[in-house]
Amino acid sequence: GSTKANSGIVHGGFHEEPGTLKAKYCFPGNQMYPQMCKELDVCFEQNGILMVARTPEEMETVKEYYQRGIDRGVNLRLLSKEEVLAQEPNLDPGIAGALFAPEGGSVMPFELAAALMENAVQNGANYLTNTQIQRAWTENGEKFLETEELVIQADYVINAAGLFSDDLARMFGDDYFSIHPRKGEEYIFDLSVKNMVKSTIFPVPGKISKGILVIPTAAGNLMMGPTGDDVLEKEDLSTSQYGFERIFEGAKSLVPSLDPRKIIAQFAGVRAASDRGDFIVELSPNVPGLVHLAGIESPGLTAAPAIAADVPRLLREAGLALELKGNFEPRRRPVIRFNTLSRAEQDALVKEDPSYGRIICRCESITEGEIVDAVHRGARTLDGIKFRTRAGAGRCQGGFCQPLITQILSRELDIPVTKVSKRGPGSEQVKYVAKELYESEVQA
Ligand SMILES: Cc1cc2nc3c(=O)[nH]c(=O)nc-3n(C[C@H](O)[C@H](O)[C@H](O)COP(=O)(O)OP(=O)(O)OC[C@H]3O[C@@H](n4cnc5c(N)ncnc54)[C@H](O)[C@@H]3O)c2cc1C
Repeated sequence: GSTKANSGIVHGGFHEEPGTLKAKYCFPGNQMYPQMCKELDVCFEQNGILMVARTPEEMETVKEYYQRGIDRGVNLRLLSKEEVLAQEPNLDPGIAGALFAPEGGSVMPFELAAALMENAVQNGANYLTNTQIQRAWTENGEKFLETEELVIQADYVINAAGLFSDDLARMFGDDYFSIHPRKGEEYIFDLSVKNMVKSTIFPVPGKISKGILVIPTAAGNLMMGPTGDDVLEKEDLSTSQYGFERIFEGAKSLVPSLDPRKIIAQFAGVRAASDRGDFIVELSPNVPGLVHLAGIESPGLTAAPAIAADVPRLLREAGLALELKGNFEPRRRPVIRFNTLSRAEQDALVKEDPSYGRIICRCESITEGEIVDAVHRGARTLDGIKFRTRAGAGRCQGGFCQPLITQILSRELDIPVTKVSKRGPGSEQVKYVAKELYESEVQA
């Protein structure tokens, strides 16, 4: 879904139009991030957000956003051109000034999603992966959801199906909203240009999107994007020369020394834009016990914890008696990140467990020990390993380490290498093992 392919920005909470649900949930979500990421041991950098004005006229618009944010309690500062350039010397020297939101930040969205899932399981939740709801209906007041293998009966259903939340709603007979795909392309730079900017740099936004940004990601790589193009297909994840050109032009107008030769990867994500132009967070007016969390486009990553905290209110309204779980454990078992340890800590760890002494991903310095730990925490695919550890996310994009990670997954999950996949059934990477092929085809 969109959570695996977005900009990873924890927005400041000053962009959103007053009176919208985006405004209601974005700033409270932002405020929940530091503690949530600490408890879940997820990388979160509170590196701030700068909205940069390129002309005196744009500075007037920036001041309107400043007032909008101040009115809802956001910690903001207006900076003169000199103050901005002292803070970010690589910005275009022709800028007029900026708005600074020190509490904005960057997170690794896929790491956060995996951590939340792990923590939910720790607290007694159950989940099914690679399981699509194909049919849903109500019968005698009960709700039923059918997958390829089972039928699930539920008193309460929370529809958080992203781009497909209108399809799921329609399965229950709710067809009063629709979701339209809006694609965003992003381009990632090599770690060698990681310190070009400290904060995420925004232009003054346009009508449809927040514009082209220069983003220091939580992983350290610089990223530029996203576009905001309405597309026909919900699963259109293609990138294009046209997308790249628009992004590069926008990013270069903020940071002129960006070098396209340092780009190591690109991707596209698709936003779930609702026909209301806003989030839909409500009980279905037609199906009792059905909650819709739909149209969660940007800033949905930021708003997500605040939306989640509001869902119990909706469930209570629908008649569910909820009690606080006394023994809820908000903390996840800490993750070992070998390349962040001191030399002495690394030596001690390798002595205790030699698998931490074997580097599997050379670009990101990820060890076998970290990959095995990720499998034990729930990773089942190459992407699952990449999202949890960053193995395969570096300059060579898995060229060297993918075969090794495939072998580790095969060994730890006790499955043949031909069953190890990138992102689930249908994306297996190894067709035959050469020796077996030789024996079956050539010798036969
Ligand atoms: C390019 C881009 C950049 C963005 N940048 C930011 C940003 O910097 N900051 C920010 O705050 N927000 C950002 N967003 C928005 C953010 O990514 C989304 O708001 C958020 O990820 C939405 O999460 P979700 O859980 O609602 O949807 P998703 O992550 O899409 O999850 C929906 C899930 O439902 C599953 N599903 C769908 N149909 C079915 C079915 N029938 N049966 C079973 N499962 C089903 C899908 O497989 C998927 O796993 C960005 C979005 C894009 C596309």
